[in-house]
Amino acid sequence: MAEKLDGKALSDKIKHDVAEGVKAYKEKYGEAPGLATILVGEDPASAVYVNNKIKSTSQVGMQSYHHKLPASTTEIELLELVHQLNHDPKVQGILVQLPLPAHIDNSKILLAIHPDKDVDGFHPYNIGRMMMGEPTLLPCTPYGVWELLKHYHIPIKGRDVVVMGRSNIVGKPMASIMLNEASTVTVVHRHSADVPAKIRQADILIVAIGKPKFVTADCVKKGAVVVDVGINRLPDGSICGDVDYENVQHVASFITPVPGGVGPMTIAMLLKNTLQSAINLKNK
Ligand code: NAD
Repeated sequence: MAEKLDGKALSDKIKHDVAEGVKAYKEKYGEAPGLATILVGEDPASAVYVNNKIKSTSQVGMQSYHHKLPASTTEIELLELVHQLNHDPKVQGILVQLPLPAHIDNSKILLAIHPDKDVDGFHPYNIGRMMMGEPTLLPCTPYGVWELLKHYHIPIKGRDVVVMGRSNIVGKPMASIMLNEASTVTVVHRHSADVPAKIRQADILIVAIGKPKFVTADCVKKGAVVVDVGINRLPDGSICGDVDYENVQHVASFITPVPGGVGPMTIAMLLKNTLQSAINLKNK
């Protein structure tokens, strides 16, 4: 039976450490770090994600500045808000909740956020630094997965890592972090041939495809570490991951639950990034 990689417990510890850091920051500078969140439109899932982030921000003693904009917001209006926040001394972190409405170019917005305030770690400067193995602000979800593996002392160097999914926010940065850790990385995606044979090679399997319970026990090598990034809502309203947890837990050595695995780690790393960027800005 696999040991559970308890992202909830580790994220609580990280949040506790961030709260201590925020207290020290406040004593030194007389103000709390500020995180600005921007939500454009009415997507209910995005609203839930942003609200969780806002709630966690205040739990650790940081200031949150939320900007809720109508779906009709133009690209220029959004760019103006981002520029304004770039220059706002009360704001040390800027988060634009994705996806944005179709008439707004994601890349243009992400490029406009000052790299020093890019707490999601999506700016090409921060992505480039990550790829060079000189990370500045790392994308929160893969950063959280990495922290979880380190916390459980799971060796990465020299091992075969398979990342399922090649999105800019999870798969690609995840592969880059694992490569920097000197593992041998394979990325599989929708167009890959013979996916089961490839994922069966994995010592560490990281799944981010958005397909409920897609990875079954027969595709997992005995003793593999399985990290499930997926968040899928089933018709009955419950949440499940991309991995068939019930069966895979009998084959894997470690496994993340959904919920309670990668999800809470993502928010913890956002808070950690925000404190880090506030400290970096003060030391500039
Ligand atoms: P995405 O839709 O942008 O990308 C999905 C990727 O999966 C694509 O690269 C696609 O080629 C690949 N894929 C699809 N079907 C596949 C298959 N059968 N075999 C192999 N690859 C396949 O998704 P995303 O934004 O990276 O998110 C992936 C999942 O992770 C979603 O369920 C999302 O909700 C979840 N997610 C969770 C967190 C978190 O905090 N836990 C954060 C971000 C995303």
